[in-house]
Amino acid sequence: MRVIAGDRLLAAPGRDPATGPAEIGVTDGLVAGVAAGERDDAGPGSLLLPALANGHDHGRFFSPLTFGAGDQPLETWLPALALQPDLDQHLTALAYLARLARRGVAATMHLHRARPVDVLVDEAAAICAAAEQVGVRLAFAVPLQDRNHVAYAYACGAGGEFDDVGPPWRPATVPSPATLVGAVEAIASAHTSQNVTVQYGPLGPQWASDALLAAVAEGSARTGRRIHLHLLETRRQREWADAAHPEGLVVHLDRLGLLSPRLSVAHGVWLRPAEFALLAERGVTVVVNTSSNLRLRSGFAPVAGLLDAGVRIGMGLDGATLDGDDDAFRELRLLALLHAGTDLDPRLPPAAVFRAAIDGGAFAVHGGPGPWGLVPGAPADVVALDGDALARDVLAPYRDDLTLLLARGTSALVRHLWVAGRPVVRDGIAVGVDEGAVLAELRARLAALPLPLPGAAALPALQQRLRHHYRTGGHGAPSTDGDATGWKRAPAPP
Ligand SMILES: [Zn+2]
Repeated sequence: MRVIAGDRLLAAPGRDPATGPAEIGVTDGLVAGVAAGERDDAGPGSLLLPALANGHDHGRFFSPLTFGAGDQPLETWLPALALQPDLDQHLTALAYLARLARRGVAATMHLHRARPVDVLVDEAAAICAAAEQVGVRLAFAVPLQDRNHVAYAYACGAGGEFDDVGPPWRPATVPSPATLVGAVEAIASAHTSQNVTVQYGPLGPQWASDALLAAVAEGSARTGRRIHLHLLETRRQREWADAAHPEGLVVHLDRLGLLSPRLSVAHGVWLRPAEFALLAERGVTVVVNTSSNLRLRSGFAPVAGLLDAGVRIGMGLDGATLDGDDDAFRELRLLALLHAGTDLDPRLPPAAVFRAAIDGGAFAVHGGPGPWGLVPGAPADVVALDGDALARDVLAPYRDDLTLLLARGTSALVRHLWVAGRPVVRDGIAVGVDEGAVLAELRARLAALPLPLPGAAALPALQQRLRHHYRTGGHGAPSTDGDATGWKRAPAPP
């Protein structure tokens, strides 16, 4: 039996108070038992807690800013992001996953960018191999898209408004649902392991036809394979949904058979209270990406309302944390602060915040986080922080690790990470990969890119057309009611 020992233990943050020196016994990747201990393998002053999970991401190592895609609304940001060149997928994933591990993240969702099917199969292999090498848990969500490549159109396929647009924004050919679902099965049978799971990744209802979504729902019910998709991230997606599905988009997805505990949805910013109960009833997980929602002008997810309705919440980084550094602890704080509300009691209590950042994200990634907290039977995914640095100037009687983590925890405090009891980060260094060498190679490839990037010259005109498309309701008749967060929309400009 392997033992993970530390000075202090926060076994289930928000539920149990921190305890003194503790030893966590690990058997077959699971916590076998927790006992008081004397060893301090994790270093003096270490604070052990369950590792965080990133319930929604895309595996970008370099920021979109690197390639000229500055923060802006999603609908004009996506075509800028599409110019991002392909550096080596394996090296990119190694660098990205090692950085996440150093941030205290043991499990991550990787929803890949839409690619031709043959390319996708190769890239999936490179990324899954990187996860095995780094040692973190990865859900590879296979991107599935068969419509609305350039813009959401109310009458899908009928408008032809953007038919003149080609690659990289619109592919030359669009695979059938059967081809796309077949690719998922091929990737899953090649790469599923203890650390890696493969999921269906329909990019979002506006980007996947009903035939594709129905095929995914059928495949998921048959195989038990999980599904991850973007849902109602932006105001314009809500407006499209209201026009395309007057009966309600969530009801429509339910009729397609998509809503089940196997489904996790990212964002949900524009979900309405009337939709919360159905998501809760079906056991769907909503992964909240607070920083990303701010940076891409999407708004504030109705987190408290979803929790009140009984919806499981996860936390995602979406490659767009406030400082662009994947600091999962800072993201946790933003989630807590932005959704705390103004009542005497926080609308999002600490237990719910940590549950989202640990358990909810893990549920989205692998569907089976086990019992909550570092208790027997739970995965032995453990992060050790420098607890003395966290408590640095706090007088001893007032030291409360939970309060301190919420108030000023950052990923800079991460010392070690174990995934299924195996060491993945030691003393701030990812042990499975030579990060320095990987970074040097990636930077060399970046420096060798021919500039300007292909398509850059045509981008501003396309973005201008997109603004016109959405302003004039090309995605459907704009709705006029208040939004789900209780914030009143600005009146439409004259
Ligand atoms: Zn995303």
